[in-house]
Amino acid sequence: TQVPDITLNTGNTIPQLGFGVFQIPADEVVEPVKTALEAGYRSIDTAAVYGNEEGVGKAIAESGLARDDLFVTTKLWNDRHNYDEALRAFDESLDKLGLDYVDLYLIHWPYPGQDLYVDAWKALQKLHSDGRAKNIGVSNFQIHHLRRLFEETDVVPAVNQVELHPNLPQGDLRAFHAEHDITTEAWSPLGQGKGLLDDETLRALADKYGKSPAQIVLRWHLQLGNVVIPKSATPARVRENFEVFDFELADDDMAAVTALDTGTRVGPNPDELG
Ligand code: NAD
Repeated sequence: TQVPDITLNTGNTIPQLGFGVFQIPADEVVEPVKTALEAGYRSIDTAAVYGNEEGVGKAIAESGLARDDLFVTTKLWNDRHNYDEALRAFDESLDKLGLDYVDLYLIHWPYPGQDLYVDAWKALQKLHSDGRAKNIGVSNFQIHHLRRLFEETDVVPAVNQVELHPNLPQGDLRAFHAEHDITTEAWSPLGQGKGLLDDETLRALADKYGKSPAQIVLRWHLQLGNVVIPKSATPARVRENFEVFDFELADDDMAAVTALDTGTRVGPNPDELG
């Protein structure tokens, strides 16, 4: 299976489907990452705060895959937005991953009360110009946080990784990203599983297409143009989530999934965290 690439505003590409490792403990992450790499995933999404960068690095090293063929993302945690602190945090992440560059480095949350995300963004620009972060972006940024970066700095984020699933389709943010050439990456693309995947509309579509509700939701993301990073520690599901390139949702079925919008988040509101 060939995963489509999305071209970022840097000219580099990111695989449209990757593997997320949030909430997989460090000592348990090696096997799922290996399973994902064996299934064909080439993009892995971790973060300093997940505490499992070492395990991700170990799985990558043991996979025998060429570094060039992989796309590795990690993220700067909220307490390290200060410029010098951000540079140090990046060094620590690289060291834990056992890599000499990452493909994508993100500011994990704007953490607006602290008001240091512009400083952090300048540190990421330095890492980008040094070639150690091939692409830089943000996560959980609202439109007003992005506008602030536009006003105070010269570099537009390549990616904004945000909570996005059928209960929270993020139409306004997606339109803003499209206007400014920012790639939309969806976290909790399955709405963290429970609840959403029991939805009757999704079950009916699953029957219609001979797929699972999770595959219907991932297909919806892909057809919207989102980058997705579903997570599972269950090998059969890791593989199932990769088998989404052999069917296509009709326009009215795409609309039926988008109509599941309830505005409900599974994570914090970025304006209220920090
Ligand atoms: P997700 O939407 O990927 O859901 C994962 C859960 O869904 C699994 O734990 C499992 O319970 C269930 N599931 C997965 N595949 C399934 C299948 N085929 N059938 C049935 N159930 C299935 O949620 P997530 O892990 O929160 O998000 C994915 C990734 O996004 C994370 O691992 C992480 O890398 C990233 N993330 C980023 C942020 C951020 O702030 N930037 C926040 C949360 C997550």
